[in-house]
Amino acid sequence: MMQHELACDLLVAGGGPAGVSCALAAARLGARVILCQDRPVLGGNASSEVRMHIVGATGLDAGVALETELREGGIVEELRLDLAVHNAQRSPSMFDLLLYDKCRREPNLTLLLNTTVDGAEVAGGSIQFVMATRASTEDRFRIRAALFADCTGDGRLGVEAGAPFRHGREGREEYGETLAPLVADHRTLGSTILFQARRHAQPMPFVAPPWIRKFKDEDFRLRPFGRAGSDLGLEYGYWWAEWGGCLDTIKDNERIRDELLAIVLGIWDHVKNRSKVDASHWALEWFGFLPGKRESRRFVGLHVLTEEDLFSSRVFPDAIAFGGWPIDTHPPEGVDAPDLAPCEQHHLPFLYDIPLRSCLSAGVRNLVFAGRNLSATHIAFASTRVMATCSAVGQGLGTAAALALRDRRTLAEAAEDAAFLHRVQQRLLRDDCYLIGVANEDRDDLVRAASAVTASSHQPGGEPELIRSGQTRAIHGRPSARVMHNLWDDVLRDAAPSSFPATPDGGSGIAEGDAAKPDSGTASAEWGAALRRVSDPRQVAPGSARHAHDSGALLVSSDRPAPSATTIAATCAPPDRARPGLHRWMSDPAAGLPAWIEVRWASVVVIGEIQLIFDTGLHRHLTLSQADGYTKKMQWGRPQFETVSDYVIEVQTDGAWTEVARERGNYQRRRVHTLPATRAVTALRVRVDATHGLDHARILELRAYR
Ligand SMILES: Cc1cc2nc3c(=O)[nH]c(=O)nc-3n(C[C@H](O)[C@H](O)[C@H](O)COP(=O)(O)OP(=O)(O)OC[C@H]3O[C@@H](n4cnc5c(N)ncnc54)[C@H](O)[C@@H]3O)c2cc1C
Repeated sequence: MMQHELACDLLVAGGGPAGVSCALAAARLGARVILCQDRPVLGGNASSEVRMHIVGATGLDAGVALETELREGGIVEELRLDLAVHNAQRSPSMFDLLLYDKCRREPNLTLLLNTTVDGAEVAGGSIQFVMATRASTEDRFRIRAALFADCTGDGRLGVEAGAPFRHGREGREEYGETLAPLVADHRTLGSTILFQARRHAQPMPFVAPPWIRKFKDEDFRLRPFGRAGSDLGLEYGYWWAEWGGCLDTIKDNERIRDELLAIVLGIWDHVKNRSKVDASHWALEWFGFLPGKRESRRFVGLHVLTEEDLFSSRVFPDAIAFGGWPIDTHPPEGVDAPDLAPCEQHHLPFLYDIPLRSCLSAGVRNLVFAGRNLSATHIAFASTRVMATCSAVGQGLGTAAALALRDRRTLAEAAEDAAFLHRVQQRLLRDDCYLIGVANEDRDDLVRAASAVTASSHQPGGEPELIRSGQTRAIHGRPSARVMHNLWDDVLRDAAPSSFPATPDGGSGIAEGDAAKPDSGTASAEWGAALRRVSDPRQVAPGSARHAHDSGALLVSSDRPAPSATTIAATCAPPDRARPGLHRWMSDPAAGLPAWIEVRWASVVVIGEIQLIFDTGLHRHLTLSQADGYTKKMQWGRPQFETVSDYVIEVQTDGAWTEVARERGNYQRRRVHTLPATRAVTALRVRVDATHGLDHARILELRAYR
């Protein structure tokens, strides 16, 4: 082995959704970053090696246009939009390429692929160096950094540094968590190997190896498997092919891989050769050899995020991200528990804050973390673990890290400083992240100080002034009104309908946690009788399934399986922090395009950078997915139809207008235009010439900097 000495400001271990976002955010803000990833590709569980699709606060049901725009902004939105346009074919390798390309383009980022972080030198309570090995080239690296981010999922770097961590489920008493088991144990969510199959013109036989598991139809009665009226999920695989949660998902990983192969090929053998599903023309195209790992270690940070934090949407002054996916627990036994639903989804009333302190180690001063090894209880992790949330936390951490490094102070110390936290939050907003209730208060943003904002036309609710409302999405909405009123009115009051409200698309297997639906014969009244309203999460009996009502009340089903998760729609910001409104300029469709918006200052200002936020339909699902039914819910293979495609930016100096930027075919939400030289101006105008389909122009925010 050849030894190399390297140095950087921030070392990021692990290139999954959290690590890539953390590394990119910090590097883009000027920190020198080294990112070590032990696999040949980036992306972790979303990479071509595992192929899970990225979900987040949008939950299982999309939001409502102009009411609940739940999709995360920032880096993960940039990735989603790039993929939607440039990967119409839905190639998993294109996702690997996109992440690789983003990192390779970043001058401050050094990417070390196939490089495993496997050691740490600690002195005086801080990490001095980490060791990393690239076996393929027989190289060993000793890397010095000021700050070390463990985004490995398994927490290898932190463990080498002696940082405190948890493994398994806390007992109910420890944090007063109603959803936790009575007694703590070492069980976790299990791992899964996905498969993908393709339909062929001719019959395609499958001969199974002798070591596969043999299944019966009844083993899958609670799992979305080959259900009539829905796609069979064969093109995407089964997230519920889960196993290993009763073992150590790190130490027993090889055994878990072997058993998962036996399980997944056993399921395929059942589909092909034993069940009533007509899959004669289907053949396996791909299956993983790398178990997708849901859970292993969780670090103990300066704050441990809990069930109560999520259910009460507790306000954290150091919030760096938000979450909203349901608390999504699975039986650790996985497919060995055929009598248990493969997941229980406990819906949250509102979005919740994720604090910076949950990313800072309680034991090692310069160790930070993001992703599924965040400081959270098992129950809170069951929501924060989804990949868009991991990415948002990664970006929040990378941003905080870069600003602390710039100030030459430790992040733990900076996290106590309200002025620093304000700067971090304001930077995140500038980079198109959303933080619940936090508005743009950036003193450097010249648009905030402009004397007037006018436009060629506007619609009621879409006044031009709203491009400086301070928020760049509508999130007040009544997201669950439609479906929950069905549930509430039909089920609880009338108690008579013959079936439960259907899922919006009738699809199955759309995302992890699309729980088995009640049989069509199940009377809704029977389900309804099991539901009651509670106003305080603490009144919820242990083991109950919870569902948010649009009023903010919780519906609780006490002793029955949860109704279909897909009947419960997405959540929204808590009312006291929701900042209602559309938060965008919308031109009048009757006036047609082009349409323009103009910002005018009372005296001359000097401008060097202009930033725009466009509408990309954040209420919709948008993610690279191998599931056909899920993809049908998206605008995939094209830009989002609300987005401004063609625009021109002009500035006014001494009464004369000059064009400073012209864009054709834009599809991104955040666009930054750096002018070749600063200009002294009295007005700024954006003319929208075309959108990707919408009949009017929409701009959510316009900022200008010196
Ligand atoms: C089967 C399955 C289904 C899921 N379904 C969904 C879903 O539908 N949608 C969703 O959003 N989420 C889903 N999840 C959850 C989600 O995939 C994970 O919680 C998420 O990937 C965590 O992101 P991360 O970046 O923290 O970790 P990971 O994605 O695990 O990435 C960590 C990376 O670090 C690397 N690494 C590990 N050790 C080292 C080391 N010592 N040195 C260098 N690199 C290292 C790993 O190779 C990996 O690439 C699912 C998970 C699984 C397993």
